[in-house]
Amino acid sequence: MTRPRTILALDQGTTSSRALVVAADGRILGRGQQEFGQHFPSPGWVEHDPMEIWSTTLAAARAAIAMAGVTPEAIGITNQRETLVVWDAVSGQPVAPAIVWQDRRTAARCATLRADGWAPRIEQLTGLVPDPYFSATKLEWILREVVAPRGLDVTRLRAGTIDSWLIWRLTDGAVHATDPTNASRTMLYDIDAREWSPPLLELFGVPRALLPEVRPSAGDFGVAAAEHLGVALPILGVAGDQQAALFGQGCWRAGEGKNTYGTGAFLLLNTGAKRPVGGRGILTTLGCDAAGQPAYALESAIFVAGAAVQWLRDGLGLLAVASESEGMARAVESTDGVYFVPALTGLGAPAWEPEARGTIVGLTRGTRREHLVRAALEAMAFGTADVLDTMRGVSGAPLDVLRVDGGATGNDWLMQFQADVLGVHVERPAEIETTALGAAGLAGITAGVWADAGAFLSAHEYARFAPAPAGNAARRGLGGWRRAVRATVAWARDRAD
Ligand code: ADP
Repeated sequence: MTRPRTILALDQGTTSSRALVVAADGRILGRGQQEFGQHFPSPGWVEHDPMEIWSTTLAAARAAIAMAGVTPEAIGITNQRETLVVWDAVSGQPVAPAIVWQDRRTAARCATLRADGWAPRIEQLTGLVPDPYFSATKLEWILREVVAPRGLDVTRLRAGTIDSWLIWRLTDGAVHATDPTNASRTMLYDIDAREWSPPLLELFGVPRALLPEVRPSAGDFGVAAAEHLGVALPILGVAGDQQAALFGQGCWRAGEGKNTYGTGAFLLLNTGAKRPVGGRGILTTLGCDAAGQPAYALESAIFVAGAAVQWLRDGLGLLAVASESEGMARAVESTDGVYFVPALTGLGAPAWEPEARGTIVGLTRGTRREHLVRAALEAMAFGTADVLDTMRGVSGAPLDVLRVDGGATGNDWLMQFQADVLGVHVERPAEIETTALGAAGLAGITAGVWADAGAFLSAHEYARFAPAPAGNAARRGLGGWRRAVRATVAWARDRAD
């Protein structure tokens, strides 16, 4: 019997390190997963131990390979983005804990950058806005607060996002590299020139030699030494988690987008070779085309998506489990004019009002819990449509198809409603591990496990939701939703009394 050709996908996430062995026919033959510690040393600070990230990644990889019972041909890496590590290349040890993307310790620094007028220049160079979320001010902080006071020799140090830390460990220090998708989230990378930006390196006091070399997402990142996984394995694909999901969903061309419906929602739209204009809470970033080469993409997040259903469940007790929401939504013909704007933690793109709070409008004596639950589901679809319509507007890119993943996509009613609101096909893959599949795809195309991206995608099946004709009731509901959003924003801004 011939052994199946397989790729090892390392999926290094925020709360756990996972690994999957993916076969050429798309099946997942082995899985491993290990959680690791979250450290909160001060209010707003979030740290990980880089050595624990490394050890849990190795443990997960070994478990996945053992379960699969086959030796993979190559490694693909996907990772939590923006999280930053600085380490000593001689000792191999980190000089400080990893500063996680959620960490807000550099909020004041970012406010100063904005006050000093840096925002437009940073946006022009990187597609991002000055925010502690991105890696640049985290690296600046470690250089100022750890490296300088301790008098560490900077020439011995290496810095990078989690992908480059793992690559460096796997290759026993032979390769210090990252890929454009991860680099585009650092706020140090010029997304047009495709190089570390000299003015930003100067602004943040970062020596160029500290940073990894940026290589194509589908390409050669060196060889993982045999001591780690029992056999020497080439690392042939790397992408940040959201861009890996975009690739794994087959969104390689302009007009193809994906939305992940989890606690919040993460939207990316591939806009191809032409740089779009971001703004209004929509960032410009780099994804991949079918060959794993950089392509522009727009990215945005909806802070509360499935969490609205969670709140109706846990806060109000309107349902026992999230999946009940589907039957409840079907039990009524409409929300009877009720709209729920779940701005529980502020409003993201495109309204962008951090002071906004959740708002329910249109209540009558006839309102029942089914109407509220349905309104929470509709809010996910309307919020997604608002972001995608704005992305279409700012980029001029069409939207041809929306591919979906995440916990709430198990709700068929929601998926159909989403297709109707958008007027495009919504496609849900049978295999939900889109992030890991994206990393496997990038490496597998480079390794020849799949002849090309099309062969990779044809190993996957999709459930398709076709939109109802234009002018359908769901699309018409957008008008009422937008009115409800305006009311929500007005309530936040009108502090006259
Ligand atoms: P995360 O990765 O952000 O933790 P998941 O992808 O696991 O989230 O999705 C869980 C979220 O999806 C929860 O907020 C839950 O309320 C919502 N959810 C799960 N199943 C359904 C469903 N059938 N209908 C609507 N929402 C759902």
